[in-house]
Amino acid sequence: MKDLKIVFADSILPISDHERRIIHDFGCEVTQYHAITPKEILEVAHDADAILTVGGKFTRETIEGLEKCKVIARYGVGYDNVDIKAATEKGIVVTYVPVYCQEEVATLALTLMLACSRRIMIADRCVKAGRWAKSVASVSGAASPRGKVFGLVGFGSIARQVVPLIKPLGVRVIAYDPYINLDFCRELGVESVELDELLEISDYVSLHVPLMDSTRHMIAAPQLHRMKKTAILINTGRGGLVDQDALCEALKDGTIAAAGLDVLEYEPPREYEEIFTLDNCITTGHIAAATEEAIVRLRCAAATSLVQVLSGIKPSLPSGIANPDVLQKVPLKDTGE
Ligand code: NAD
Repeated sequence: MKDLKIVFADSILPISDHERRIIHDFGCEVTQYHAITPKEILEVAHDADAILTVGGKFTRETIEGLEKCKVIARYGVGYDNVDIKAATEKGIVVTYVPVYCQEEVATLALTLMLACSRRIMIADRCVKAGRWAKSVASVSGAASPRGKVFGLVGFGSIARQVVPLIKPLGVRVIAYDPYINLDFCRELGVESVELDELLEISDYVSLHVPLMDSTRHMIAAPQLHRMKKTAILINTGRGGLVDQDALCEALKDGTIAAAGLDVLEYEPPREYEEIFTLDNCITTGHIAAATEEAIVRLRCAAATSLVQVLSGIKPSLPSGIANPDVLQKVPLKDTGE
């Protein structure tokens, strides 16, 4: 066994045999703790050589207290729980996993679209309430996708995975993305349009855009009013893309027909969310990436990236380096994979 201390700082995701095997094959063991705050992390990991984390708070204070850490491997696409600048200054490589759940998010977008358009939740509640004879009436207004228009807002990797899932349903697919790649459009049979046109002609509007200052509330009252009264809004991107209070009003007054939301503007939700009381809105609680298969990919990619950095190898997809500037201080071998 190598004389290295490897710590899984927090226990948001209990460690599995997948990470243990990868780290054991490297010649080390890993110990999991319940450390979230800087103080808790330093108690268990001040002398660690490498750290796995889901949600530990790696502030500047935490990072400066790490005596010999070479790598912090973060489970997930984002890394906002790690002070990247502090890590770079300290020569600690921060790895993350940008690619592990694209297909899962795409399939959830399809699921929400079908569940909303067929009014699945309403029928389910009706049957379970003992009103079997009313189930068909309860889904009045349910619509078939054939011949309808599916609008993708954002045409990045997840949106492009949605296309082959929905095309067999007979929909026309259009997309808005300021940086759209027309080769991908041709390849996938997707028409590029402006946002206003997309909102006006789409029967389904599905959001696949990162949340930034420029995209916050990109769907608010004016955009909702451009949409068809029969339209369904799907959001598997980020809650802040939508002005949730405006959406709630639009769902109540019939401005649009329904919404399927994996993400909310406030996560965790506020004490009272009126949107939860609406029959024409499905909320799934940020589960888009949560399949067994995706979680295994995430576990393996995070542990592998940690082992790669300790071996002097630059992690490659599905994991990546969140602070590439650190490579000026910590040269890692590029295997070209
Ligand atoms: P991506 O980077 O591959 O694609 C994002 C696309 O959005 C890019 O093509 C970009 O040009 C486009 N874009 C940027 N600004 C835009 C704007 N103003 N209007 C329209 N398009 C714009 O990202 P991705 O992998 O497709 O993921 C999309 C988003 O999905 C992520 O940013 C993330 O927030 C979200 N996501 C959610 C979950 C979940 O659990 N619900 C999981 C993974 C990702």
